[in-house]
Amino acid sequence: MSDFRADCSRCCGLCCVVPDQLAVQGFRVDKPAETPCVHLNGLHRCCIHATRALQGYPACEGFDCYGAGQWITQRLFQGARWSDSPELAQQMFAAYRYWAPRFEAAALLEAALPHVRDEARCTIAAMISSLTAGETLELPTDAARLRRETLALIRSALTSDEVSKSQEEQAIRAAGSRK
Ligand code: SF4
Ligand code: SF4
Repeated sequence: MSDFRADCSRCCGLCCVVPDQLAVQGFRVDKPAETPCVHLNGLHRCCIHATRALQGYPACEGFDCYGAGQWITQRLFQGARWSDSPELAQQMFAAYRYWAPRFEAAALLEAALPHVRDEARCTIAAMISSLTAGETLELPTDAARLRRETLALIRSALTSDEVSKSQEEQAIRAAGSRK
């Protein structure tokens, strides 16, 4: 399905359009949702990419959609662009809102996988499959809450007398530090 890494060369800049951006979050100016950032060019690329942080956009540097952007653009919409039509834009924006949190949760779970024993590995792998199949329940849209709840999911999968505390901590640390 994905290696849960953004490949912006195969996307149409969805993260630069769909979410709103607030200056207090590390963007130079406020931007409403579903509006392209002023620095997104006609080829759907960031025209200040190399100097984003210096130009007042430090939040962009740490961002990763975990592969959701290219997956939506290429797999769901066969390479179409949100700018092709207003109808397509609405569909792609809705897809991004739906899939981005799922990819993020799946990426965190995947980071924990190498650190857990077989029993928990099956549970976590099943969670990843469920997320990437879009089957899962409602996920928080707030990024910090999503991360907290995903780490709680990992912790619950690890709750077993057989799993040592240090392994649990290692898995949570790996997931929590996933960028
Ligand atoms: S949505 Fe993801 S793949 Fe697309 S431009 Fe943003 S980070 Fe890159
Ligand atoms: S500064 Fe560049 S990377 Fe950041 S939102 Fe604008 S176009 Fe996207």
